[in-house]
Amino acid sequence: MKAIAVTPVAKQIGIIDQPEPKLVSPTDVKLRMIEAGVCGTDREICAFEYGTPPIGSERLVIGHESLGEVVEVGAKVTRVKVGDLVVPMVRRPCQHDDCMACRSNRQDFCFSGDFTERGIKQQHGFMAQFVVDDEKYMNPVPGNLRDVAVLVEPLTIAEKGLAQVWQVQQRLPWGCPIVPGKAHEHCHRAVVLGAGPVGLLGAMALVNADFETCVYAREAAPNAKSKVLQMIGAKYMSAETHSLEDLTRAVGNVDLVYEATGASRLAFDMIQHLGTNGIFIFTGVPGRKAPVQVDTDLMMRNLVLKNQVVFGTVNAGRDAFETSIHDLQTFKSRWPEAVQSLITGRYPMSDHRDLLVGKATGIKNVIQLN
Ligand SMILES: [Zn+2]
Ligand SMILES: [Zn+2]
Repeated sequence: MKAIAVTPVAKQIGIIDQPEPKLVSPTDVKLRMIEAGVCGTDREICAFEYGTPPIGSERLVIGHESLGEVVEVGAKVTRVKVGDLVVPMVRRPCQHDDCMACRSNRQDFCFSGDFTERGIKQQHGFMAQFVVDDEKYMNPVPGNLRDVAVLVEPLTIAEKGLAQVWQVQQRLPWGCPIVPGKAHEHCHRAVVLGAGPVGLLGAMALVNADFETCVYAREAAPNAKSKVLQMIGAKYMSAETHSLEDLTRAVGNVDLVYEATGASRLAFDMIQHLGTNGIFIFTGVPGRKAPVQVDTDLMMRNLVLKNQVVFGTVNAGRDAFETSIHDLQTFKSRWPEAVQSLITGRYPMSDHRDLLVGKATGIKNVIQLN
């Protein structure tokens, strides 16, 4: 079968031929992969900044945002059946007995750091024609989501972040008055930093919970991303025309910030505008650059005097995948055109080089695998 792989030692990227994987345990599932999304992590792996092949291999098959169809199941498989569509999870647990997270199937909170990740760290990924894995990492997807299900994995970032927001904000009276026809966050205001796929999907999740949502991003409006936001009823403000002061003036008390750029300077500037009882979610992973100055007194005063919370979040557990599938279904019925327009192109495997090392274009580009 064909797969897209990197060979870090030789700095090579290409389509490789390798044997089709086989079921090895009675709870294994074999998937015929339909498609895989390309994201910043894949591009970093292809720039050889990131990515570790499996032990004993020089090559790493990449890809972690995917959709597959079940073609074979082991004798003891109960969660999925042949013909089901599934989105596999990415992270696999470490082997340490004392890692409470991995031993509780929450490897997204792994303590040891010795977890593996398909397509990223020591496990082959999903940009391959076939994949085999244990059924416990498979998330079944309804057939009507086939055209957008490749967005499930990137949406889990927002879903895991928001699940933590609900937990953390229980420490104060954060609930909005009940208004018929409104979701529970209708009295809260959210700012999203960045209008890439993670930011746009995060904005959809926030609007869907009825946050008044404003996305702050580089490009001047109107553009393809600001149009998506208009369709879902979120605002868009460009850093080219508006400062963070303008943003905060327009928004009011910033109850929540969802950071989706990986730009630490912008994020730390924005922390200073976080409102009373506000919560700030970091999802980006910046490269290491020169130090920048921040006003630590102001930040610490605000954190204390305004009861603020700042947290980071990575990867996702099964609950976030399930919420993601559920919410994507809702997004698709509320805003069919907006959800479709997140996927800006579908390409054959032979186009992988342009997508992975060429200039980044569009919103979410997808590689068709079969
Ligand atoms: Zn990704
Ligand atoms: Zn662990």
